[in-house]
Amino acid sequence: MNNNNNYDLETKLIHGGHKPDPATGALATPIYQTATFAAKTVEHFEELCQTWGYVYTRECNPNLSELEIKLSILEGGENAIVSTSGMGAIASTVLALVKSGDHVICSDGVFSHTKILMGELLTKFGVEVTFVDAVVPDNIRKELKENTKFVYIESPLNPTLDLVDIKSISEIAHANKSLVIVDSTFGTPIIQQPIKLGADLVIHSLTKFMNGHGDTLGGAVIGSKELIELVRWPSLCCFTGASLSPMNAWLITRGLKTLDMRMKRHCESALQIASFLESQDCVEIVKYPALKSHPQHELCKSQMNGLGGGIVSFKLIDGINGFTRDEASRKLMNSLELVTIATSLGEEHTLVQMNGENLIRIAVGLESVQDIINDFIQAIQKIEGSFEKSEA
Ligand code: PLP
Repeated sequence: MNNNNNYDLETKLIHGGHKPDPATGALATPIYQTATFAAKTVEHFEELCQTWGYVYTRECNPNLSELEIKLSILEGGENAIVSTSGMGAIASTVLALVKSGDHVICSDGVFSHTKILMGELLTKFGVEVTFVDAVVPDNIRKELKENTKFVYIESPLNPTLDLVDIKSISEIAHANKSLVIVDSTFGTPIIQQPIKLGADLVIHSLTKFMNGHGDTLGGAVIGSKELIELVRWPSLCCFTGASLSPMNAWLITRGLKTLDMRMKRHCESALQIASFLESQDCVEIVKYPALKSHPQHELCKSQMNGLGGGIVSFKLIDGINGFTRDEASRKLMNSLELVTIATSLGEEHTLVQMNGENLIRIAVGLESVQDIINDFIQAIQKIEGSFEKSEA
């Protein structure tokens, strides 16, 4: 693509970063499944090393470059770097930015492994980490220090689906000269574009909606040229070595071409499922940002294009038909026939998972929404049926 920023997002998803193969003219990008690249002479090799030419796949590869250009176009960044997983992207980013004696703020309720990384890895290297309820932006202001290097947030939060106000937090952090990093995995550029709201770096687990087919792991960081180069070298390409494989970059690039259609379908189905669950007597609470009952519904409209994303969380009422909430939740999930009990999200299959507080997270897939709802109806009937039997 000629980097024409006037194209709509749907066009950028297909054309961004893409060129017919320069060697053969193949319109679909070939998979450059190679560890190393041949140079013509010693001088050519030296030139490639100095200019980030194709030398070694851990540092540069045409499949990775295509995906990186596409992602920076989609998120409105200047540059991007892809990695072997979302965690690879997060680790490489924070290791690039902090040194012993720095302070960082991390939002409460971020993905559990991110919390472990911040709490255990960074503190091990002498970085002070403060966890804050970032749903209230003012809480961030109160914890900022002179040496706060960055504020790390996620929105929507996983699995509570609370929202974090990216624009307000960016203003607060920047007034302190602290960077803002946003994990936008649940959002995707179809729903929210954190850089336009003031964030410095956007992180994605490409494993989820961006690839969309549940067949590869991947991660990415997008931001300014300067910050991405800092993450690239020596952090990602040398310290963590968390470079994406060409095959996985190719799969994710292919998945991205249909992101717009898939994401809209995930959102439409999620809203219908959330509304259905909200109408059920056995359900205590449904968390979904596009529901009018969500306490941050207005923020969903301004920050997320009014779309709530592809994840719905809910809790059953306690004591329903003589079951504890835990018993009823397990019974409901074990009774599902179409929906699969599995971790992860953002793929074509609908997946369910429960946390320690009996919050059931539905990662809404691309099946017929009526079939998904029917599966929940029959599972709910099973809880009620058991009650009738035990009462009889
Ligand atoms: N960020 C969020 C919000 C996630 O949900 C996950 C994984 O579930 C990650 C990051 C980590 O991504 P990956 O599993 O690709 O390492």
